[in-house]
Amino acid sequence: MGSYLFRNVRVWDAMDDAAYAGEVVVEGDRIKTVARGAGQIDAGAAETEIDGGGRFLMPGMVEGHCHLSFVGPARNQDLGEIPPEEHLLRTIRNATKILDHGFTSAYSAASAKLRLDVVLRQEIEDGYVAGPRYRAASPEITTTGGLGDERRPHMYAESFGLIADGVTEMLKAVRMCCRENVDNIKINISGDEFVSHARAEVVSISEEELAAGVDAAHDWGKRVACHARAAEAVKRAVRTGIDCIYHCDFADEESLDMLEAARDRVIIGPAFGLVHNAVFEGDVVGLTSDVAASMGLPRKLEHTIATYHEMRKRGMKVVVGGDYGFTITPMGQNARDIGHFVKFFGYSPAEALKCATAVGGELMGHKGELGVIREGALADILLVDGDPLADQSVLVGPANFALIMKGGAMHRDWRRPEMRSELVTRSYD
Ligand SMILES: [Zn+2]
Repeated sequence: MGSYLFRNVRVWDAMDDAAYAGEVVVEGDRIKTVARGAGQIDAGAAETEIDGGGRFLMPGMVEGHCHLSFVGPARNQDLGEIPPEEHLLRTIRNATKILDHGFTSAYSAASAKLRLDVVLRQEIEDGYVAGPRYRAASPEITTTGGLGDERRPHMYAESFGLIADGVTEMLKAVRMCCRENVDNIKINISGDEFVSHARAEVVSISEEELAAGVDAAHDWGKRVACHARAAEAVKRAVRTGIDCIYHCDFADEESLDMLEAARDRVIIGPAFGLVHNAVFEGDVVGLTSDVAASMGLPRKLEHTIATYHEMRKRGMKVVVGGDYGFTITPMGQNARDIGHFVKFFGYSPAEALKCATAVGGELMGHKGELGVIREGALADILLVDGDPLADQSVLVGPANFALIMKGGAMHRDWRRPEMRSELVTRSYD
């Protein structure tokens, strides 16, 4: 880490809608100066001067619904069947992969096994593994019969769920995750179309159980996220004080009103990539359109689209993040959701990009100092070939990222092709 002066760049700061010609100085892990125009900052302002060649300079992206430990399962129970050794290594590979794809932060929406997220976060923070800033989650705490319970009466099966029935077991599950030092607790309130015994509009946990878990997590200073597709699930989430409410596909008028009343404290995430791919690209995994229709997936897609037009109109804080990591949603495609916000939800390109940067920074717990280009902010910076305000697809895949900086440290720098990364493989000696 040193100091850098970026010249000849178009700065998009995630506060204004438009990009402008500007200059940026980074010192240590923070942005020190941002100037509009050319030649505003003295040549000696930093150790290294970088001519950006007119490239687009923007904040590093934030994955707001991330499952780094979802290592390509076709079925939920596949995640239970992978032994922890393989599982950890493949989770690490996902961490490096999404950083290569421009995501310098990721908010975990559940760890497939209790300690995978926690261990990974620590290795990243200690500089041994190249990965995004990471908020580690618990597994998906669920009930018998809920999303994440794949057991049969005659046959035990693991999945990504941590099953807790009743207030006592809920408290125990949450406290165990706190003991293992997660940042976020994840609770499944409703089912999902992919679960034959608990579809999306089934509410699988009582409000009493839920409230107990949320209160315990908050007592430990943890944030709580939930899986809530059903309208009643959204209402229970708001009433019990959950911080981050995912999906909300079937939100009705009453639940939307409740969300709007809580919009200053609640963050929403559609996790749309999975919904989208299951309907439009299911063939790649044998999910034909007939099967998708029989599961009600096109109907859910319509509800999701209608709901997020409402979320936008009502000024809700919505993060980008698409449930990537399943076979049908390969990790690395994550930035596709930015374009989806524009195409399906009616967001302007700048609004959608803010969901993937500034709003995500707030979800990460760094409101106003992560996901923005401003003086004093954390220096997570991308230099992009192309203009994401005109074409969001330039952010998909690693090809167009000429430079990726996280916390003032270079992960990629087009001027130094030999550089694998300053963040990768710090040796253990
Ligand atoms: Zn998810």
